[in-house]
Parts: sequence; C-alpha cells; structure tokens
Amino acid sequence: MDKVALVTGSTSGIGLGIARQFAANGYHIMFHGLEANGAEIAKGVAEEFNVKTSFSNANLLEADEVKQLVRDAVAYFGTIHVLVNNAGIQFVSPIEEFPDQKYLNIIAINLNAAFFASKEAWGYMKAQKFGRIINVSSVHGLRASEFKVAYVASKHGVIGMTKVLALEGAGCNITVNAICPGYVKTPLVEGQIEDQAKAHNMTPDEVVTKVMLKKQAVKDFVPVEAIADMALLLAKESSKTITGSSFTLDGGWTAQ
Ligand code: NAD
Repeated sequence: MDKVALVTGSTSGIGLGIARQFAANGYHIMFHGLEANGAEIAKGVAEEFNVKTSFSNANLLEADEVKQLVRDAVAYFGTIHVLVNNAGIQFVSPIEEFPDQKYLNIIAINLNAAFFASKEAWGYMKAQKFGRIINVSSVHGLRASEFKVAYVASKHGVIGMTKVLALEGAGCNITVNAICPGYVKTPLVEGQIEDQAKAHNMTPDEVVTKVMLKKQAVKDFVPVEAIADMALLLAKESSKTITGSSFTLDGGWTAQ
C-alpha cells in the first residue's frame, strides 16, 4: 500500500499519535507542526516504520502557508490520500477579558486552516477518486463550556464544514468526518489546566477532577491511541459510505 497522509499538528499530542498509527500501517507521512524537533520526529518515524516522511513548519495562521503546506506534500509524495486537519489551539477566559487577537487566531487555526487545506487537497483527491478528510473537532464541537467562546465556536464550525464537504465529496469517493474527543492529556490540555485554575480560582488538581473530567461519565483522559485507531478506520477504502459524521470519543460526556 502506497498511501500518503498529511496530518497537521503532528509533531505533538494527538496529531503525533495519529501520524505514528498511520506510519505503523504503511502510510507515508507529511509531518507538520511548530515544534522545534519536527524534522527529527519525522526522520525517526521514517526509520522506525520504514516509510517515507517529510516535515513542514507552515504557520497555519496564514492562508498562503496552509496552501503551501499541501503543495509541499504533493511535490514530495506525488499526491495526498488522507488529510487530517488536527492542529488546534485553545484559550480560556471570560468573554469580557477575551483578547480579540486570541479569538481571531483560534478561528484561523482551528477552523479556517481546515478550509484552506481541504480546498487545496480537493483536486488531487477528486482526480484519483479517493480522499479521506478527517477533522479533529472536539466534544466542544457538540457541547459548550463557559470561558471557551472562540474554541467552542471554532469546533462547532468544523462540524458544519465536515457536513458540507461530505455532501460535495459524495460523488467522487471523498469522505469527510469529524472526531470529537473528550479530554486527552496532551500539551494543549496541560496548558488549559493552568488557565482554568486561574479562571475558576482552583488548584490544578481540582480543575482536573471538578471541571475537566466532571462532564465525562468515564473519569479517565481519552487515550491518544483510541483517536488514532478511529482515524485509521475512517481512512480505509471500505469506509467509503461513512461520511458527514461526527464520532464522539468522550467518555460518555454527550450521552448525558
Ligand atoms: P497539542 O498542543 O499537543 O498539538 C497542537 C499542534 O498544533 C502542535 O503540533 C502545534 O505545533 C500545532 N499548531 C498550533 N498552532 C499552530 C500554528 N499557528 N501553525 C502551525 N501549527 C500549529 O494539542 P492536542 O491536544 O494534540 O490537540 C490536537 C487537536 O485535538 C486540536 O485541534 C485540539 O483542539 C483537539 N482536541 C484536543 C483535546 C484534548 O483534550 N487534548 C480534546 C478535544 C480535541
């Protein structure tokens, strides 16, 4: 199998877990992210799983850089079969103090970058009659929590975009789905524990038990491996009728 996956934000957290799972299953990987050791991570995964990898540190705040990221992947690998729009940022604050620029950045990275990357990859997927776009949304694409106005808006937006593109891709074997995790212990969440402690005036331990996992029926962080397994399933040829859906991996949060 000679398939190519571009995973945004794959030099950290959930994206890295997804990229590693795809590499373990024979996919060539376009790594991407702002981590300084990104090129090293890409090289290490290539050696470990005997696949081809490349790396880009495109800044997803800039539409032109998002488009260039896709073009760079195509230039290196020839095409893209799977696009995982995973990169994302968070900021926690009551609306009155929410910095305007933070709001704009969250919408740009979490939502707009998924649009630009999908648009740029679309023609290649259409031409080869195979495309799998997997958007990492969140349980916050389906439910709200206070102090997260930009994040919740962006993640709800991602689910809307997922549905529209699923309809547009239906005739040419391009599927588009969203994965909606509950809390996963990654650098993004480590940062939130600090921010939420300030916003709620609590200790970090209290934030984990009383705020974060409070809404999950299962009081454990969601393992990265579960999200990677779900992404791999969605990428299969046999998943061609699974489209426009949002898959919750949220410890029972939205069951309530
Ligand atoms: P993370 O902080 O570990 O990784 C985020 C990645 O995005 C990093 O590689 C980072 O370099 C990249 N990134 C951030 N800003 C960028 C920019 N301007 N340009 C290019 N790359 C940029 O976070 P994570 O927890 O692995 O989150 C991954 C995705 O999963 C995000 O979309 C997040 O919203 C979503 N998510 C996370 C959780 C959780 O609990 N961790 C839950 C639900 C959804």
